[in-house]
Amino acid sequence: RLDEKKKPKLVSQVPKDLEDDQPLLEVKSLRQYFNLGKGNTLKAVNDISFHIRQGETLGVVGESGSGKSTTGRAILRLHEPTGGDVLFKGIPLQRLSPGEMKTMRRHMQIIFQDPYASLNPKMRIMDIIGEALDIHQLAGNAAQRQKRVEELLEMVGLDSSHAQRYPHEFSGGQRQRIGIARALAVEPEFIVCDEPLSALDVSIQAQIVQLLEELQQRLGLTYLFIAHDLSMVKHISDRVAVMYNGKIVELAESEELYANPQHPYTKALLSAIP
Ligand code: ADP
Ligand code: MG
Repeated sequence: RLDEKKKPKLVSQVPKDLEDDQPLLEVKSLRQYFNLGKGNTLKAVNDISFHIRQGETLGVVGESGSGKSTTGRAILRLHEPTGGDVLFKGIPLQRLSPGEMKTMRRHMQIIFQDPYASLNPKMRIMDIIGEALDIHQLAGNAAQRQKRVEELLEMVGLDSSHAQRYPHEFSGGQRQRIGIARALAVEPEFIVCDEPLSALDVSIQAQIVQLLEELQQRLGLTYLFIAHDLSMVKHISDRVAVMYNGKIVELAESEELYANPQHPYTKALLSAIP
């Protein structure tokens, strides 16, 4: 068993179970710098570390430009991070080749703020979701593919008969449901939710949070849940990280953070909640 542990883990061998007390995701000294030219470097993510346990939701809050999305994208290596390590089930993602990382995204997905921008307007819902299945060779034959897409639509509360429609035929909330269905298609364990509520009407926001919570319970999902203000993450998060200027300035259990904020910026964020 010891020898087994020492062996480098390949992406094709993502362990089903975690070791005792092992977090699902570990982020260690993650950095993402952008070269702005003329010798200027923007430290968008400036040496941050945290972990997320399986089944947990870690909220990430902070004002626009504080580095939340860059963090989410660097974890999934949608951008190549400047430095640091991200371990998923103990697998160091930085050591994977781009091809292996693509395979890894079977386990790690992302939901975006604006589902309209992230859903190809020229594709039918069937193919938007089907494409995710195709990429990971999960579709099977045409009938199985269709059945799976319909099942996914029902899972997110949409009528399966809508599969032949295009994104513009849906409301904002419905489009976010489609984005969620697409992320779920590959049966991921971990999802970065990058401000999934921000583009939605307040009344719809509550429905989407509820859906994400139900899916988490049902499928055992783990979330990194990004929002720009604390009121949106309060309910869904077990712990909350507060980002400011590329740094995590405070990270605490949700209840603790609300009851007893330590950092002046957290206090300012809390006072902004009506
Ligand atoms: P947030 O999601 O918290 O609003 P972002 O992570 O999107 O913030 O951005 C953090 C900072 O990094 C911002 O100043 C943004 O302009 C900058 N940034 C993000 N992506 C790039 C990029 N590809 N090139 C240059 N700067 C970027
Ligand atoms: Mg963002």
